[in-house]
Formats: sequence, C-alpha cells, structure tokens
Amino acid sequence: MQAQQPAVGILKSQDFGDSKSYKVSCECGSNDCIHDIYIEADEYAITVHISTRQTTSYWESIVDEHRAIKNRFLEKQWYTIARWINGIYNRARITWHVWVKGYATYESTTLLNQQQALNYAETLRQAIEDVDKIRSDRVKKFQHAPDSQS
Ligand SMILES: [Zn+2]
Repeated sequence: MQAQQPAVGILKSQDFGDSKSYKVSCECGSNDCIHDIYIEADEYAITVHISTRQTTSYWESIVDEHRAIKNRFLEKQWYTIARWINGIYNRARITWHVWVKGYATYESTTLLNQQQALNYAETLRQAIEDVDKIRSDRVKKFQHAPDSQS
C-alpha cells in the first residue's frame, strides 16, 4: 500500500511556504473529531503542532432517549424530556467532578484507516521537507547578505 497524491482524508487548508496546515478527517465522518496539523519553520527550528477539539463525554445518559412508545406524539415528548434530563445530568456530573477532583475529564479520538494513516505520514514527511527547504534558503540568503559580513 502506497501513500496517495492527492491524499484521501488529508485536506491541505493553508500553505504559506514556510508554514502549512492540514485537516485530518475522522473515519466516522463527524466534523467534531477532525484533527488539525500545522507545520512551521522559523530561523531556529521546525515545529509540528497537532490539535484536536476535545469534549467531555456528553453522550453519556441515565435515561434512554429512544424508548419505543406506540403513540408517536408521546414518543417525541419522551425524547425531548429524556434529552433534557440527560443534559442536566451531564452538566451536573461535569461540575461535580470539578468540585471533587479539581478538573474535568476530556476525551478525543480521531480514527484513521490504513490508507489515511499512510497518507498522514507522507503528508507530514513532505511538509517538513518543504518548509525546511524554504528555511535553509532563507538562512543561506541571510548569510550572504552584505550587512551580515563584517
Ligand atoms: Zn470521529
């Protein structure tokens, strides 16, 4: 299996030459677990920033929201009430954890398939190579500038 060009699951979002950023999509298709990578070169180093939006486990519930009720109207009413109860429960649980532990627990997962993982690795390798070339060219130009010679 080879890395693809263009790469499935890796979206280039910005390219300023000495910095590039990509969005890595999640296998589940949700925008909530997109993973961002940012590769930057300055005169000292190349850095890779990896970030993912994190959430508390808001999906946990104490009341079943999808209870089957024969009456369609009552089923919808039940769903609204159950969601409200679960929402209150989750808010209370998070604040309770902050009170007793001093922190809230966050969680994030970005799921990659085999092809996407290969594309990710190749994109990262290529981006580092690209920004490094721009950085080295800039350093060379600076070293040959008339001002820097004494
Ligand atoms: Zn996901």
